[in-house]
Amino acid sequence: MTGLSGARGLLICVSGPSGVGKGTIIREVLRRRANMAHSISVTTRAPRPGEQHGVDYYFTDRQSFLRMLEAGEILEHDIYCDQYYGTPLKPLQKLVAAGTDVLLDITVPGSLAVMQNYPDCVTLCLLPPSLTELKNRLSKRGTETAEAMQKRLTKARDEVKMASSFQYVVVNDNLTETARQIQAIIDAEHCRYARLAGIEETILAH
Ligand code: 5GP
Repeated sequence: MTGLSGARGLLICVSGPSGVGKGTIIREVLRRRANMAHSISVTTRAPRPGEQHGVDYYFTDRQSFLRMLEAGEILEHDIYCDQYYGTPLKPLQKLVAAGTDVLLDITVPGSLAVMQNYPDCVTLCLLPPSLTELKNRLSKRGTETAEAMQKRLTKARDEVKMASSFQYVVVNDNLTETARQIQAIIDAEHCRYARLAGIEETILAH
C-alpha cells in the first residue's frame, strides 16, 4: 500500500458491527498504552451530539470527500449506511514511520482492503456476545433513528459472518477483559520474529 512499506508502528484494523463497542474499546486501549494512536477518519455523516471535528472524525461534505479520494489522500474508504468514510493516508504514514502503533476503527470491507494492500497489518474483529446484546447496546446508545438502527442491525448480521476473514476475534463481553486481550494481541504481534528480523546480530554485537 502506497507509502506504508517499511513502517515500524503496527497498523491494527478493528472491525465489527455498529454498537459492539469499538469506540469505547479503542479509547480504553489508548488510555492504557503508550505510543499508540487512533486514526481519525474522514466522513460525510453528520456529527452526533458530543462528537468533535478533528477528534472523533473529520466531518466533511460529499464533494470534499470525493476530491480527497481523487487526490489519493485516502488509504481506503467505504460507503456505510449511505455515508462515506475514509482513512486519511498522510497522518497514518507519519505515525507508523515514527514507530507509533495505530488503531483503525473501520468497516469489514475497509479492513479487508487494508489487509490486501498491506499484509503486514493486524486485523481484529470485535464481536458482541449475542445479537440480542448488540440490539440492547445500540438502543442504549440512542444516537440512531429507528430506521437507521434497523439498517445497522441488518448490516451487523453480515459483519458477524465475516469473522473468519480476520486474524483475531475478540468477543466484547466486558470492557476490561476485552482491552486486556487486545493489548495481549498487540504485545504478541510485536514479538513476531518477522517484525524483529536481524535482532540476533544487534544483540551479538554488544
Ligand atoms: P459510525 O457512523 O458508527 O461512527 O461508523 C459507522 C461504521 O463506519 C463503523 O463500522 C466504523 O468502523 C466505520 N468507519 C469509520 N471510519 C471509517 C473509515 O475510515 N473507513 C472505513 N472503511 N470504515 C470506517
